[in-house]
Amino acid sequence: MVTLSAVARPLVSQLQRQLFRGARSLRITPVRRCNLTACSSKYVLSAVHPMWKGPLVVPGGDRQSPIDIVVRKSVFDSELKPLKPKYDPDTCQQIYNNGYSFLVEYDDTTDKSTLSGGPLQNSFRLCQFHFHWGENNDWGSEHTVDKRLFPAELHLVHWNSEKYSLFEEAVMEDNGLAVIGVFLKVGKRHEGLQKLVDALPAIRHKGSEVEFSHFDPGCLLPSDTNDYWTYHGSLTTPPLTESVTWIVMKQHIEVSHDQLAVFRSLQFTAVDEEVQKSMVNNFRVQQPLRGRTVRSSFTPFLQEPGAHKHSH
Ligand SMILES: [Zn+2]
Repeated sequence: MVTLSAVARPLVSQLQRQLFRGARSLRITPVRRCNLTACSSKYVLSAVHPMWKGPLVVPGGDRQSPIDIVVRKSVFDSELKPLKPKYDPDTCQQIYNNGYSFLVEYDDTTDKSTLSGGPLQNSFRLCQFHFHWGENNDWGSEHTVDKRLFPAELHLVHWNSEKYSLFEEAVMEDNGLAVIGVFLKVGKRHEGLQKLVDALPAIRHKGSEVEFSHFDPGCLLPSDTNDYWTYHGSLTTPPLTESVTWIVMKQHIEVSHDQLAVFRSLQFTAVDEEVQKSMVNNFRVQQPLRGRTVRSSFTPFLQEPGAHKHSH
């Protein structure tokens, strides 16, 4: 039995160290404001995170997410195969504002929408996708690449239907989940995303849901899904279980500023709450790697020369 304070203390001191580093680099890179407030110990375990009001479950082990992906430390693995997403748009059912993000939910009672290949040994069923985003375009993603922040990040959540019979079971177990992460950058309008953006005003408040059908989540994947990083990590929202094989796409997708503005018009709060709160900065602070290896399906050193310099 681990007491709360025993678990929380190392987490807090680690976060204070992060805060210190963040403060020093303030002038060079955009630092997420939420990172700074969330890092003060007072907020770490409750107030900042709308989903963390209940008793804390597994606040940290050695395999927490999200992380910063350090490109030069990632290890190329020639065994990593191309991803094989096979999505049936007809399994799309509804969109739901859960008070932290909006979930696009899929029927996962059959193997109609699945993910296999890549680092995965089994077939995983798609159950939902959602995004994390910032209050502006300088931050919002949960993962970062060489400390580079993106304005938003898409998560496609799948569970291992070969080993488990329900999402609720898989979420607690090793090798239970596979989540694809895709970074969003601001640029031209994303035509595929627009159908979803148009539906968002109907689920402005926490707890609301509307029917949403025939949406192909594959349209939100980058054109090249062969290049990705993968590592063992956790959910970034409660229960934070360390059941996730993360697959983070190297290539980002582009969405327009206006499309992200509609994300930001959603509310953390229910319709009858007096003080309304915009749904922004719904990401978790970064977690230590703790000796884990991030593998890549591509050779980092064969990138276009100079590509790195233009990233800021
Ligand atoms: Zn997520």
